[in-house]
Amino acid sequence: MNEDYLHKDTTVIHSGYDSNAHHGSLAVPLYQTSTYVFETAVQGENRFSGEEEGNIYSRLGNPTVRVLEERMTVLENGKGALAFGSGMAAVSAILVHLTKTGDHILCSRGIYGCTFGLLSIMQKKYNITHDLIRMDTEEEIEQAIRPETVCIYVETPINPTMELVNLQAVANVAKRHGLRVVVDNTFTSPYLQNPLDIGADFVVHSATKYINGHGDVIAGLLVGNDKEEIESIRMSVQKDYGGIISPFDAWLLIRGLKTLSIRMERHSSNAEKLIAYLKKQKLVEAVYYPFDVDNPQYALAKRQMLAGGGIISFTVKGGKEGAQLLMDRLSLIKIAVSLGDAETLIQHPATMTHSGVPEGERRQMGIEDSLLRLSVGLEHADDLIADFTQAFAVVEMMMTKHL
Ligand SMILES: *Cc1c(COP(=O)(O)O)cnc(C)c1O
Repeated sequence: MNEDYLHKDTTVIHSGYDSNAHHGSLAVPLYQTSTYVFETAVQGENRFSGEEEGNIYSRLGNPTVRVLEERMTVLENGKGALAFGSGMAAVSAILVHLTKTGDHILCSRGIYGCTFGLLSIMQKKYNITHDLIRMDTEEEIEQAIRPETVCIYVETPINPTMELVNLQAVANVAKRHGLRVVVDNTFTSPYLQNPLDIGADFVVHSATKYINGHGDVIAGLLVGNDKEEIESIRMSVQKDYGGIISPFDAWLLIRGLKTLSIRMERHSSNAEKLIAYLKKQKLVEAVYYPFDVDNPQYALAKRQMLAGGGIISFTVKGGKEGAQLLMDRLSLIKIAVSLGDAETLIQHPATMTHSGVPEGERRQMGIEDSLLRLSVGLEHADDLIADFTQAFAVVEMMMTKHL
């Protein structure tokens, strides 16, 4: 069957797996093995030389992991994919692959806290520099390019401010200047946004989030639009740095991925209901969500995303104290970092996920002390709203008492 014509709702379930090749097993079998037996010495020699295709050792390839990689390739409309033991292993693999000493990386104004940490290490140890800039227009991006710039690394929506990067503008500039484009697509999942279609070269995911969706695995993925380049990363940076995924975690991701489309639809519809509710609350100062009609980037959001996704951020009255007071009063909604799970999670970026980013840079990224990030889960929206309503009532009472 030609998979090009299938919808994503179908490919998340079927792509990259043929039950006939696996004793008819409906479920993808778990190959929990470290190594593979060669029938003869010469077969071993031929596998190592590449003359014969086949398994050698699970750091170089595993049949369960392969199914995940092929499914992700189809979902992101790419040409190849690699699975890693964490999102950060995928991020570091692609940045190590693309850069050498003295190079410069142009980044979106906000990036994941540990990606920022990785860039700081690269700067200190290898003199690979970076700049964080707004990327609304081609002029803004063009102005920041230096002779030593080799790649543009972006997140959109940006964590945790939900600001968007104009992917078409990035792709146009990159093409003119011969730069590679890497997009961290964790926040939208391949169901809501496909940067390779717009001209990116690579997509990275923290599969820990929406791709798994069940809060029980740490994993990462890298998808590219050039099969040969992906295979060369497999046999170089991935093999020799070694940040691979375990077959069991790959198996769990294959299982989680089957419900990606229905989960993303529910995350998005729940988030829209919560946005409408939060905008009406006295203690809420501002809300940030791509598909909020009042968002100045709403038109851009509709161009590059299928729906708004499950992440909301908002600021509350009372600064850091106000934010912490509200978090402690929530009960159904759990205080935890991570996102994309069935459970609704709330966290305080300034003191949690982005506490490692120096204050000046944090402000430059737009992360205020009163900002909260909510990962809207799959519960009934009314129950989430009820939890907020009881929490806001208590916080309001406490705040008026203080005055
Ligand atoms: C969580 C996350 C990462 C890191 O992924 P891990 O799986 O935790 O290593 C990278 N980018 C974004 C946007 C994330 O949310």
